[in-house]
Amino acid sequence: MIVGRGMCDGVAAFGAERKLMFKVRSFRFWAIPLKKKVLRGIGVADSLWSLRLGVKPMMGERRVAQEHLFYEFSLERHVPETHLLRSIDRFVELGGLRRELAPFYSEMGRPSIDPELLIRMLIVGYCFGIRSERRLCEEVHLNLAYRWFCRLGLDGSVPDHSSFSKNRHGRFRDSDLLRRLFETVLQRCIDEGLVGGEGFAVDASLIQADASDRNRVDGAAGLPPDAAGRAVKEYLAVLDDAAFGAASEVTPKFIAPSDPATRWTAAHRGPAFFAYSANYLIDADNAIIVDVEATTAIRQAEILAAKRMIERSLEHFDLDPERLIGDTAYGSAEMLNWLVHERGIEPHIPVFDKSQRTDGTFSREDFTYDHASDAYRCPAGKTLQHYRRQFTTPRTGVMKDNSMRYRASKRDCEACPLKPHCCPNAPARKITRSIYEGARDLAREIAKTDEYQTSRRQRKKVEMLFAHLKRILKLDRLRLRGPSGARDEFHLAATAQNLRKLAKLIPMPSPLLAM
Ligand code: SF4
Repeated sequence: MIVGRGMCDGVAAFGAERKLMFKVRSFRFWAIPLKKKVLRGIGVADSLWSLRLGVKPMMGERRVAQEHLFYEFSLERHVPETHLLRSIDRFVELGGLRRELAPFYSEMGRPSIDPELLIRMLIVGYCFGIRSERRLCEEVHLNLAYRWFCRLGLDGSVPDHSSFSKNRHGRFRDSDLLRRLFETVLQRCIDEGLVGGEGFAVDASLIQADASDRNRVDGAAGLPPDAAGRAVKEYLAVLDDAAFGAASEVTPKFIAPSDPATRWTAAHRGPAFFAYSANYLIDADNAIIVDVEATTAIRQAEILAAKRMIERSLEHFDLDPERLIGDTAYGSAEMLNWLVHERGIEPHIPVFDKSQRTDGTFSREDFTYDHASDAYRCPAGKTLQHYRRQFTTPRTGVMKDNSMRYRASKRDCEACPLKPHCCPNAPARKITRSIYEGARDLAREIAKTDEYQTSRRQRKKVEMLFAHLKRILKLDRLRLRGPSGARDEFHLAATAQNLRKLAKLIPMPSPLLAM
């Protein structure tokens, strides 16, 4: 933007004064009357000007605020080449999103706020950890780099924070726009070759919900009849969703009436609080977030989220990893079986195993399983079998918890010298084996390889992303309520993290190369 082109003409207009000046950057111009004629303006250095006033040359000049100055000002030139937003701007493509939003706008009435402006403002907010909508509007109004990124120019008006909120919680949510935004940025990461697709890592992190623990009610008493609001409606809508209400049959200790879909949890081993889980599936090469899911803060829901994200990444982006890296939370027998036998993915996951005994007696790992005979062999060399008698109608013997029991002979155990170290309080030893034990055995074998050690190091990448999310992007507590609010916040945060990663890994072209 160029303003104040007439500055030299302005000198003649000030002829009535004996001495006038105005400044452009670090030079001063003035007109000196000489025998009723006004000379053209002459530019001299500040030091010379100071001498004429009798001011010591090294003293900085006095700055006086003036309202009517002419400036030559370019917003484009003002934003440094190295500014993060300049780098991020190369990867923000919102053309397609406008088309998707079109059905959610009326053909009559006053034109609404440009949705692209709102999305760009949201990207600024989540990239720089500006969590308050009111403060975001103020920051975009005042910060020139934010104005440049939002295409506002120097005098473009910034939406009011209430209009900003209304659009965000209305059209954006109805159109699933933030999910589309995340996928658009992810597609750009794939196009730039940043997603290898060979190994994925999965993890979940607790994010404190916007629900006060002082207003909690007893979980056994249920939701108070007067509880109302958008978050309560959403809670009732997801009661049968395995990621929320149907994740567990256990009654929570407390419920938050302001946001009942949250879960009261003490998983951090500190004071309990209401929380949602942010679930990330990342590519192990460059820690690009491949998918994100919001669930209630409980392990069963996190396992379900991992499955959903793996299926969705195949369906939407044709990404089919060869190995999945995770912590013990994903090492349940059922999850490992799903990975190995249904998806053909190597589980680089520690096995969740409670069979270890601590009372000095033999654990299950002291018994050897023989696949051919489907039987265990004990340390004394005796056999533990599933059934010792033949049934007319064959029985599967699978228990409710998807396990089978293998029993030693009572006669063998009674005569065994090892009995005090094996089953001192029972007539014979029993071993429980999951019907998914084959997948667990494969995971145990993988855990002995060098590739598993590499996977363990790569798992830290997803933990670092959560640390960045909470410390740098300041998303340690949600500002929006309900499952939709958590979903929106996690999608925007993941989009911001992927954009920052793109900006970091793909440097800006140098000015010479760009020419
Ligand atoms: S007590 Fe029974 S199961 Fe245990 S070592 Fe002896 S024979 Fe084997």
